[in-house]
Amino acid sequence: MDYRVLLYYKYVVIEDPESLKDEQRELCSRLGLLGRIHVAPEGVNGTVSGPKEQTDQYIEEMRKDPRFADVIFKEEQSEGHAFKKLKVKVKPEIVNLSLEDDVNPNEVTGKHLSPKEFFEAMQDEDVIILDARNTYEYDLGHFRNAIKPDVETFRDLPNWVRENLSDQKDKKILTYCTGGIRCEKFSGFLVKEGFQDVSQLDGGIVTYGYDPEVKGSQWDGKLYVFDERISVPVNRTDDSKVVGKCYSCGKSEERYVKCGNPDCNKHLLMCDECEHETKRSCSTECREHPRNRYVKEHEVQNQA
Ligand SMILES: [Zn+2]
Ligand SMILES: [Zn+2]
Repeated sequence: MDYRVLLYYKYVVIEDPESLKDEQRELCSRLGLLGRIHVAPEGVNGTVSGPKEQTDQYIEEMRKDPRFADVIFKEEQSEGHAFKKLKVKVKPEIVNLSLEDDVNPNEVTGKHLSPKEFFEAMQDEDVIILDARNTYEYDLGHFRNAIKPDVETFRDLPNWVRENLSDQKDKKILTYCTGGIRCEKFSGFLVKEGFQDVSQLDGGIVTYGYDPEVKGSQWDGKLYVFDERISVPVNRTDDSKVVGKCYSCGKSEERYVKCGNPDCNKHLLMCDECEHETKRSCSTECREHPRNRYVKEHEVQNQA
C-alpha cells in the first residue's frame, strides 16, 4: 500500500491546548494515523504516518480549521507506518529553547530562503552555515562546511552561540534544521542577540532534499529523523559522501544504535563488529551495566 509521512508545524496562538489535543487524538484515531503531535499555547507540531488516502483526509480536515488553513505539509513516501503508536501531548512550547525571554517567530525570525536561495547563499565563502540540530544528528549528515554546535540538546544552543559566535555578529548566518521548526525560533533568537544578517532554510532539510532543482546538493551523509526510519537520504545528485563514522573504530558507518545501557540511551553510530565487541555501549560503565539490553537480547537468543 501507498503510505505517507506528514511533517508540519504552525506557530499560532492556541487558546485551549487541551481541547485541541483531544480533537487531534480523535481525528488521528478515526483515520488510523500514527505518530507524534505536540500542542502548546504557541502552536502545533506533528509528524504522522498512514495510508495516502487517510493522510490526504487528515490534511483536508486540518485545513477546515482557520488556524491551520495555511499549514504547509511536507509529504514523504514510506513503506509503511513510520511510528508504532499515536502520541498526542500538550507541551509548554513546541520547541524548547529555554530562553528567559522567549522568541515568538511571528514577531521576530530570520529571513526565509527557498532551497535554491539557500544553495546560492552557501556558495559565498564568507557565510557561516550553522547547523541548528544536536550533535548526533549532525554526525550522520550535514551541509558541507557547516559548523557543528557541540550540544546535546536544542536548549543548549543559545549558550553555545554566546560562547562561540559573539564576535561574528556582522557575518551572514545561514541556519537550518530538519523541517524548519527549530530555526523559526532559533533564527529569531539570533536576530535578538544582535546578529545582523540571519537566514533560515524554509521547510528545512526535508524540503531541500525534494527540491527538483537543487536535489539536496552539497548535503553529505543522511538525515536523522525522529521516527522508526531513523535516517533518510537527502542528496539526490552524484556528489555526496558518507560522513558518519563508527563511534568505536572510526570506520564509515551510517547506522544508529542506542547505547545498551537503558539509563544512558545515547545515540551511537556503530558498526556491527563494534556493537558486538562493546555490547552496544558508549563506555565501560554502560557495557557492564546490569540491565545492558544487548546482553539481555543475546541471552534470550542463546536460550531459544
Ligand atoms: Zn566500528
Ligand atoms: Zn552509554
